[in-house]
Amino acid sequence: MVRVIYRVGRYTIELVIQDWFRLDGGIIFSGVPRDIWSQFAIAQDLPRYGENTVKLPVNCFLITSPNGDKVLVDTSFGDADYSRWKDKIREFGMENGFNLLNGRRDSEQPNIVIPTHLHFDHAGGCAKLQGDELVPAFENARYIIHKDEIAHAMKAHPKTRSSYLRETIDGIKMLRDRGIISLISGSRFSTDECVEVFRTRGHTPGHLSIKIKSEGETALIMGALAPTRWHINILACGVGNDTHGLEAVDHKSKFLRRAAKEKWLLLLEHDEGVAGRAIELKKDKYEFVPAP
Ligand SMILES: [Zn+2]
Repeated sequence: MVRVIYRVGRYTIELVIQDWFRLDGGIIFSGVPRDIWSQFAIAQDLPRYGENTVKLPVNCFLITSPNGDKVLVDTSFGDADYSRWKDKIREFGMENGFNLLNGRRDSEQPNIVIPTHLHFDHAGGCAKLQGDELVPAFENARYIIHKDEIAHAMKAHPKTRSSYLRETIDGIKMLRDRGIISLISGSRFSTDECVEVFRTRGHTPGHLSIKIKSEGETALIMGALAPTRWHINILACGVGNDTHGLEAVDHKSKFLRRAAKEKWLLLLEHDEGVAGRAIELKKDKYEFVPAP
């Protein structure tokens, strides 16, 4: 397969994991009324699966810094063949695409893992089964998670607990018990002078977005603030299980304004097009243009 690598100044960003799953269109494209859903899906040329279901990729990115840091943003759901996922495979049609980190030598493995949030399709692959034992999926990494995200994920809130699956949370508890999670609590955090992590509450209470800025070039991994291009083209389109929907759109608008002006590379976690740029058509109206 062709490796997908983007260069941002002195950094590279590589698509290292891509899996697939199916979701109800109303969950991923909130704000599109059900009665216009099918026309919307056809008009937007969505990858549909069945009447109201869409098949989406889960894209995870590895940022390599000139100082040697390898920062993995999101881990997808992990190996769908593992028995711990067996009920969910049926429910979500989980399919592994590729994981280019498998088989790479230690020095090529991530030393920092940042799940944007702890939903199963972003943090399920933080842990893996070794025999019967749950172990870190990335042996030499520390995991960076916002303290509000852990607190919410562990709470099993009636509104959101269906997105924080037990299979994921068991893995996070194991990482916590082993002392390899670095909790962050503020609104900003940097892994080095060019990689900035923003707390972007909206999709979840402790959601994170990651910006890479080097030599005048900028890339942004918005996470679930804009999982697909349609969340950029339709600013009001959120995600059905957003905990703080207005804040999500506010963060997204703020980022997109600058992204369009300064031609940032936008990396999308649930879009087959993977990366592109936003063009501002008029105030609060953008068009996503895939990168070549
Ligand atoms: Zn999510």
